This record gives sequence, structure tokens and C-alpha cells, in this order.
Amino acid sequence: MAAQIIDGKALAARVKAEVRAEAEQLRAAGTYPCLAVLLVGDDPASAVYVAGKERDCAECGIESRMLRLPADTTQAQLLCHLARLAADDGVHGILVQLPLPAQIDPQRVIAAIPPQKDVDGFTPVNMGRLLTGQPCFVPCTPAGCLAMLQSTGLSPAGRRAVVVGRSNIVGKPMAALLLAQDATVTVCHSKTQGLAELCAEAEILVAAVGRAGFITGEMVRPGAAVIDVGINRSPGGRLCGDVDFAPAAQKAAFISPVPGGVGLMTRAMLMKNTLRAARMARQV
Ligand code: NDP
Repeated sequence: MAAQIIDGKALAARVKAEVRAEAEQLRAAGTYPCLAVLLVGDDPASAVYVAGKERDCAECGIESRMLRLPADTTQAQLLCHLARLAADDGVHGILVQLPLPAQIDPQRVIAAIPPQKDVDGFTPVNMGRLLTGQPCFVPCTPAGCLAMLQSTGLSPAGRRAVVVGRSNIVGKPMAALLLAQDATVTVCHSKTQGLAELCAEAEILVAAVGRAGFITGEMVRPGAAVIDVGINRSPGGRLCGDVDFAPAAQKAAFISPVPGGVGLMTRAMLMKNTLRAARMARQV
């Protein structure tokens, strides 16, 4: 069996086209959707991500305000910038690029983002709403994974889903989303016993580990849907996911590639969340 590839590029293009059309309507009605991004320090990967967000905003008709702050910015200074953006009615979404330098507590900073502007969905309020089934901003990566899964036509209801990874930004919200879709969810992590066997039972397998080739072909159940969140460099320097793609694609029914998969959908979902924040601000 050769899996059908879940085309993140095509799906993301569709999402962004929808956002662009709606943003145009909002602008015509006098609301100019705006995303503010705070970047502290000069982490090269973060700089690339932020530049990507800037391009996405331009493509979607969303204004972007990029605040690039020096690496020695204090937590108090960062909180001050956040308070200003929180009070600015012209800013609809606020995102703090992670990771932050060591002198800043990321939890303290994230909690300072007003929930209605928290387009990353990382604040305790939005996380709590997600877990309790209330309307919220869903973190962009899991939201993208779910949209990719839904694009296959496969319903998660009643299916065995395994999420490998339990981070606050990917694994935990992914598990919550699948549970809300009535899947039977197992979350695996570095202390899990029998991880390979659990994965091999999964009808839906989401890999968010951060290790190239972690999910081998033997760990994929025939006919499974496999979503690869990982972004890694292979020993040869090539961008790759957590899944050993070729053998996994021989067994899965659906599989997302890296590159061309979750990363692009994550970016598209940020645009969608920002548009939603702008729409919500109009209704207040
Ligand atoms: P974290 O490092 O925060 O979490 C990794 C998770 O994997 C942890 O829960 C950890 O377990 C688990 N893990 C690590 N090693 C093992 C192991 N040997 N066996 C089982 N579990 C293990 O990473 P993130 O969740 O932030 O990201 C995961 C991957 O996804 C990374 O490659 C990252 O670059 C990528 N990513 C991609 C995005 C995209 O847009 N495509 C967005 C965000 C992330 P434990 O909790 O026990 O330590």
C-alpha cells in the first residue's frame, strides 16, 4: 500500500485565500486586522519564523507589527511592551516568539497576553477553555494537524489515536482536540513503556517528538493516518520530520510530509486565528 500524501502546501494556500477574502471584507467595514509579534534576541530559527509570519500577514491582507527587542531585554521591559499592545485597540493578535532568553519566564509572559488577543492559544485561559470544550483560540500547530486529518475525510470518532509528545504547545492540545473529536487518545512521552507497540495500534498517529526517524515503519499500523509535526535536520543536513517517511508511507493510508506538511498549516492557522481575533474585536 502506498499512502496518500496530505498536501500541507495546498491546504494552507486554501486557508490563506479564505483569510485574505475575509480580511478584505473586514477592512471594507473599517477594521484593519493586525498581528503584533514580539521577538526577543537573535535566535536564527526564531528570526526565520518571524520573517515567515510577516510574509504570511502581507499575503493575507493582515497588518503586521514586528517588535524586535535586544537579547538583554528584561522581563519587566517585555511585560511593558505587552501591556501597551494589550491596550491598543488597533492590535488584534499578539504573539511572543518562543524560546525567550533565560532571564525571562515564558509562562509569566504568556499569561500577560489578553486571552482575546492570544492568537497562539497558549495562555492558561485559552488552554483551559480548550480542555473544557469552550470557544477558544486553538494553538496553531494542533489546529493545523486536525485540519489536515479532516482533509482526508477520516473521522476521529471512536478511533484509537496516539500522540507522541506532551508539550504544552503541541502534544497536550493535540490530545485535547482529538478527544473532543471523540477519538480514544493515548499520549506517549519519554517515560512511556511499550511506546512502539502503542504506536503500532494507532489508527491516527501524531508524532511531535523532535527526533529524526523516531517513528519507524514497524510502528505504523497498516491503513493509519500519520501526521508528522517534527522539524529536524537529518545527519546530512536535510529538513525532515519525526517519521521515517518512506517505510511509513508504505503502510499508512495517509501521511503528511516534512517539508510541505504541518509547518505550512501552522502558519496558515495563525492567520486564521488573527482574523478571528479581529472579527471578535468588532463585535465587542
Ligand atoms: P518538546 O521538546 O517540547 O517536546 C517533545 C516531546 O517529545 C516531549 O513530551 C518529550 O517527552 C517527547 N520525547 C522526547 N524524546 C522522546 C523519546 N525518546 N520517547 C518518547 N517521547 C520522547 O517539543 P515540541 O512539542 O515543541 O516540538 C516537537 C517537534 O515538533 C519538534 O521537532 C519541533 O521543532 C516541532 N514543531 C513543529 C511545529 C510546526 O509548525 N511544524 C511547531 C512546533 C513544534 P517528555 O515530556 O517526557 O520530555
